[in-house]
Amino acid sequence: MKSDKSRYLSNIVKELKPSGIRRFFDLAANMEGVVSLGVGEPDFVTPWSIREASIASLEQGITSYTGNAGLIELRREISYYLKRSFQIEYSPETEIIVTVGGSQALDLALRAIVNPGDEVIIVEPTFVSYAPLVSLAGGVPVPIHTKRENEFKLQPEEIEKVITNRTKAILICSPNNPTGTMLNRHELEAIAKIVEKHDLLVISDEIYAELSYEDQYTSFPSIKGMYDRTILVSGFSKGFAMTGWRLGYAVAPKEISQAMLKIHQYTMMCASTMAQYGAIEALKNGMQDVEHMRKSYRQRRNYFVASLQELGLSCHMPGGAFYAFPSIQSTGLTSEEFAERLLMEEKVAVVPGNVFGESGEGFIRCSYASSLEQLQEAIKRMGQFLNRL
Ligand code: PMP
Repeated sequence: MKSDKSRYLSNIVKELKPSGIRRFFDLAANMEGVVSLGVGEPDFVTPWSIREASIASLEQGITSYTGNAGLIELRREISYYLKRSFQIEYSPETEIIVTVGGSQALDLALRAIVNPGDEVIIVEPTFVSYAPLVSLAGGVPVPIHTKRENEFKLQPEEIEKVITNRTKAILICSPNNPTGTMLNRHELEAIAKIVEKHDLLVISDEIYAELSYEDQYTSFPSIKGMYDRTILVSGFSKGFAMTGWRLGYAVAPKEISQAMLKIHQYTMMCASTMAQYGAIEALKNGMQDVEHMRKSYRQRRNYFVASLQELGLSCHMPGGAFYAFPSIQSTGLTSEEFAERLLMEEKVAVVPGNVFGESGEGFIRCSYASSLEQLQEAIKRMGQFLNRL
């Protein structure tokens, strides 16, 4: 006899909606000849020297757990990297935790700071995991809607409008997924002022920091007064093309990072040992490879965004990551209709903007981490689709 198992589930989990991206992947997976601009991951294979370092660790039989916070050699390399790249200083002994992807770093950060009912501000269009992670931590995600006319840049006065006495933190992401928007130092300083005034914490997701194409990258804790208020979340997935390795890190002032470490030691123990050996090599000798990939994405961004404009789809120039976020409002279709018809009629997979929150409606996310040939083919097919509408 079948019985209803939902009574066993937690209320928070019951209320979570499955990610809207998944449905499109599933549709596309069953079709042949699809040009996919859907997935948010590099099209490069991890550079060989990184793979080799990981293989060497296995050959030497290094297969046991590492310390909870990760290998001290890796934490030292992360500390050097943060200092030389962004002029921020964190103690490898007490302020850096190696995690299972940036995803786990986000989860640790939220669970370490959120009490039931605490509000965490998220910026829409938003990475799909933020709101669910806030809810799973027992908090309440509070969205701010950014707009196309501001290139989806967070406006500091919008933060003040949603602050209540339950607001604990704001989660920011620059360069952004899904809009590609990057905030410069000046814009981050304006946010920092509000953060200071209202005694908030900031979770700064800087996983795309290596993939910035215009301005010098500014890491949030490098802004005056913000070291004490920031949990910086990052990882190797994007810049180093290491998505499948599942390796990231969280850094924060000692008291906060030690609180995160308590959760980490009971829930995850430590990140993958062989992956950590690869990451040491990545930070020591991999920066040239990163630069090569960055240049290649920039070239593809320039081609792809210009081509979208030529097709009549207005699109701001994204400052980083590998996403273009064009408006499809001129077509009169909803973003879901547009994405579904483009997939069915022309076999091009993109992600409808509404999966990134209400303010993503009227837009689609296209990942340009695909070969130039694939991008050209996608543009050709999108042109055919638009001509037929
Ligand atoms: N933050 C953002 C904004 C992302 O786009 C992603 C990956 N899509 C992550 C965090 C998590 O990355 P990972 O867990 O692979 O490090």
